[in-house]
Amino acid sequence: MIDPENMRELPDDFDIAPVRLTIDLQALADNWRDMAQRSGQARTAAVVKADAYGLGIEDCGTALYEAGARDFFVAVAQEGVTLRAYAPSARIFVLSGIWPGQERLFFENDLVPVLASEEQLAFWMSVVAEYGDYPCALQVDTGFNRLGLRLEDALALAGDVSRPASFSPVLVLSHLHSGDSPEAASNRTQLEAFRQVSAAFEGIDASLSASAGIFLGDDYHFDLTRPGIALYGGEAVDGSKPLRPVATAEARILQIREGREGETVSYGGTHRLLRPSRLAVASVGYADGYLRSLSGSGIPLRQQIASGAHGFVAGNRVPVVGRVTMDLTIFDVTDLPEGAVRVGDYVELFGSNVALDEIARAAGTIGYEMLTSLGLRYERRYLYAD
Ligand SMILES: *Cc1c(COP(=O)(O)O)cnc(C)c1O
Repeated sequence: MIDPENMRELPDDFDIAPVRLTIDLQALADNWRDMAQRSGQARTAAVVKADAYGLGIEDCGTALYEAGARDFFVAVAQEGVTLRAYAPSARIFVLSGIWPGQERLFFENDLVPVLASEEQLAFWMSVVAEYGDYPCALQVDTGFNRLGLRLEDALALAGDVSRPASFSPVLVLSHLHSGDSPEAASNRTQLEAFRQVSAAFEGIDASLSASAGIFLGDDYHFDLTRPGIALYGGEAVDGSKPLRPVATAEARILQIREGREGETVSYGGTHRLLRPSRLAVASVGYADGYLRSLSGSGIPLRQQIASGAHGFVAGNRVPVVGRVTMDLTIFDVTDLPEGAVRVGDYVELFGSNVALDEIARAAGTIGYEMLTSLGLRYERRYLYAD
């Protein structure tokens, strides 16, 4: 047997990881301050649902809290429970609200439910009747038809003098469906509807805008804004310049192969080599959220969008060739000088050289889905603010 104690020192896990993710918490904090600046007079929350868009709620939550965020939004209660340890004196709103059986979880962790339907509201009235005063928020639907009380029901609730005194909403909110299209007429329509809500609930904070809405101007800011994607370096408004990139994903090159003219590459043999080619096989696949739809050929999306994804290595953009497989992806590095790329080098999948939204478009999706699909294999390194 070999005694591992007697071995010489090996490289750091991050330096040899098959796939790795660098998360720049300084950029995250800067992006939050940027959104706070753009939010003008309004307070600025941070949306950290889905494990902070896949980048880690513990570290991202801590960085946002230290940057000054004191209002957080999560999708489900369990995310709020995790966040509580890292954001001790913050308000944590749970966007999906509360249902019977979750009362203790909310009270113990000081979570604020965002009530979004008549049933939830009725349940909540019975909870506060039994236990007494506890904050809640109300979501009002102004045209999304996802969650939220109907406008007329919300206005009726605001005017209902018989509602129990222990019912004490601290926030009313709504959500724009086309905030990312500044020219969409629905933005004004939803704004007008939400103004009625905010007026009816006078004295209670109001919140309408996620990242995109913040760019629509002061009218849309109300008392609290709720940026998510912009904090993580994604495009908030279609085609606009994102804030600083936060995540860099990289894959290790396992092998460099010389392919001959006429040979094919990967499953289905859908990519045929038209010249002698140098191919770099990288340790990343759709199991890592490097979606199969990023393939260079052999998938239905390539009939709509001709080009697949590009990676970045040795100062150059290199295309994916053939199909992305579960654990491996092949990049064509023929155009790079011989020896420029070596086994053990890393291909950037997205980061400061390949924009998150560029590969999202190549995959036929959005940056949000790329980030929340990253999977469990990445070795993560957090860069802390100094
Ligand atoms: C996800 C979400 C946000 C944040 O949206 P971004 O587009 O990521 O800024 C804000 N509010 C609600 C209700 C959401 O569901």
